[in-house]
Amino acid sequence: MSSGGVVIVGSGLGGYTLARELRKLDGAVAITVVTADGGEAYSKPMLSAAFAQGKTALTLVQKGCGQVEEDLRLRVLARRRVERIDRAARQVVLDDGIGLGYDHLVLAVGADPRPYGVAGSESVTIHSVNDLDDYARWRALIGTSSRILLIGAGLIGCEFANDLAAAGYGVSVVDPAPWPLGRLLPREVGEEVAAALGGIGIALHLGRSVVRIAPGKAVLDDGSEIAFDHALSAIGLVPRLDLARQAGLAVDKGIVVDRTLRTSDPAIFALGDCAQTEAGPLPFVLPLMAEAKALAFTLAGTETALSLPALPVVVKTPALAVAVCPPAPGKAGEWRVEGEGRDRKALFVGADGTALGFALSGRRAAERQSLAKEMPDLMG
Ligand SMILES: Cc1cc2nc3c(=O)[nH]c(=O)nc-3n(C[C@H](O)[C@H](O)[C@H](O)COP(=O)(O)OP(=O)(O)OC[C@H]3O[C@@H](n4cnc5c(N)ncnc54)[C@H](O)[C@@H]3O)c2cc1C
Repeated sequence: MSSGGVVIVGSGLGGYTLARELRKLDGAVAITVVTADGGEAYSKPMLSAAFAQGKTALTLVQKGCGQVEEDLRLRVLARRRVERIDRAARQVVLDDGIGLGYDHLVLAVGADPRPYGVAGSESVTIHSVNDLDDYARWRALIGTSSRILLIGAGLIGCEFANDLAAAGYGVSVVDPAPWPLGRLLPREVGEEVAAALGGIGIALHLGRSVVRIAPGKAVLDDGSEIAFDHALSAIGLVPRLDLARQAGLAVDKGIVVDRTLRTSDPAIFALGDCAQTEAGPLPFVLPLMAEAKALAFTLAGTETALSLPALPVVVKTPALAVAVCPPAPGKAGEWRVEGEGRDRKALFVGADGTALGFALSGRRAAERQSLAKEMPDLMG
């Protein structure tokens, strides 16, 4: 099998947004998408807001694989894996050993859930939900009225907790940080989030870690125990680097790309959760959309450098509206918080008094778009 044209590895929001943007600009170029999953178009952020809305994996699908092929006039090789990249031959080698040639290769391979290990974890299945297949399995497994142990109170952990609690599950959350969304929020706002999640019945075990786990029981570092039916881990994602690493491309925290999303090989590009831009890894939808647009222009023949304004992220916790715009990684500063109770505005301010990022909650969350305009560009 050989192809040429553009080969995109991955059918997540990164891969499919790029395919759509490229097709708008170039009606003729051959596009092939190779994907380890079923090739359905769906919105990954919905995975942590779907239970309360009664959505199944099937109803989360926006377009089946065949429909994507028809609409975008491309080929999708679904349930197929790229095993390696042969840069010299300009081809990817698929899991059945067949080579697929490319003029331009785009890695949109996403990220894996960070593995969770603790004493006893080999005796318990600790689930994670990072794609549609995971969601289908998890939803079928937990059925109704289960007690869920959720490891991690970061952005995705809080969203899952809120969603599962709203759907009627008993949820216990464990996180070593003293308040939820510990890396994104100052204490005053984090404590309001904790109160709101507690208010809908979630048992928060903050400042605590699981030290031992067994089927149905987790023991925390203060000796307390949590009984559970099923465990879900949401302790973060790790970019998938294997393909790039094996091919000898530059990798760091992600696949290193320049402003044009080019890797260290000029014929290979990367975007989305697997990529590390000049602003660092940006594992959110809005940066990914901007990356896809810029890269589509480059692939269509107009070299285009990525530029990114500050991009706020809405945390899907209906118990308390929260929006964050984290400062660029490594920026020093301090939080200045105003407002009362649930309605807070927190600015992360650098030594020279410049606001570098923000966190908003309650009614103040509505200010996110206007406030984002006052923040420094992520990539000017
Ligand atoms: C539960 C959850 C909620 C989220 N909520 C939000 C939110 O509210 N707002 C926000 O901005 N962001 C959110 N995010 C983050 C956002 O969804 C991601 O940044 C984005 O979806 C990543 O898209 P991607 O295309 O880079 O990767 P993915 O969607 O992970 O796609 C990777 C693709 O690569 C394929 N693949 C990998 N390796 C291979 C291989 N070797 N061969 C073939 N195919 C391969 C996979 O099968 C898959 O199709 C959320 C993430 C999660 C998990």
